[in-house]
Amino acid sequence: MGMESLIPTLLRKNRVGEPLLRKLLLTLLIASFLLLTVFSLSAQNYLRVTFIDVGEGDSCLIQTPGGKNIIIDGGKTNQGKKILSFLKKKKIRKIDTMVATHPDMDHIGGLLAILDSNIEIENVLDSGHKHTSYAYQDFLLKVAERKDIKYYQPRAGQIFDWGEGLKVQVLSPAHLFHNANDSSIVIKLTYGLTSFLFTGDAGYPAEDEMVANFRKGLKSTILKAGHHGAKTSTSSSFLNYVRPRVAIISVGPNSYGHPVPKVLNRLKEIGAKVYRTDERGNITITTDGKKCWIETKR
Ligand SMILES: [Zn+2]
Repeated sequence: MGMESLIPTLLRKNRVGEPLLRKLLLTLLIASFLLLTVFSLSAQNYLRVTFIDVGEGDSCLIQTPGGKNIIIDGGKTNQGKKILSFLKKKKIRKIDTMVATHPDMDHIGGLLAILDSNIEIENVLDSGHKHTSYAYQDFLLKVAERKDIKYYQPRAGQIFDWGEGLKVQVLSPAHLFHNANDSSIVIKLTYGLTSFLFTGDAGYPAEDEMVANFRKGLKSTILKAGHHGAKTSTSSSFLNYVRPRVAIISVGPNSYGHPVPKVLNRLKEIGAKVYRTDERGNITITTDGKKCWIETKR
């Protein structure tokens, strides 16, 4: 029984004097206010970002204070099952925005399983970089089949509304690059004093343009380091503007040497604490806009 329905019952059943009644009502009001406060603190005021361990690839789930769910990339196709069971465990039946940073297999592969599932999807953001791969053709086809999806190709400078208190800016690409990685959609998400920079696989050319276009606007508390810690991303000049306190590297066993020691050293030099999905498993960062809590599986 909710508080609202409890009050009239008390009024009917207790023939009490006015002062006592007022006291009772006041107590109930305070109690309901406290309950609401506790409820909103536990469920609504937190932004939660989980970097899902998908091996060599990227996948990240954002749960907003207003209850929206955003997924950025889904790892390789063979990670689809894992992503789906992760969403199921979180009781997520709707993805408000699905971001395919760029058409590479280790980013869009796992998104296909979500498109095939009965999870509702409202918006899809795609870089628009043309790719002849079967996975990307399949991705476009599945998006088109879902008549309810709104499809966008966002560009640097665009702002998205993911709910009250959140600032969502697209920082890249300003235009499509020759290279699919550099065409990655880069998003900065700010909540109070905490900010996240999701870079996909953007490399030096894209980083240089972001530095030129946004300068100090790149500063972020948490950086998802570009391209699994490859030598083609996370330049010193880019890091000098981002100045992250925490860096996430989404990586698994690979033959490319990701993450390269050079990038790890640069991150260390700037004072960022590095968390790797291959070492920690899923990495969840929860923030109230001021403080951040990092939880890892390992
Ligand atoms: Zn990648």
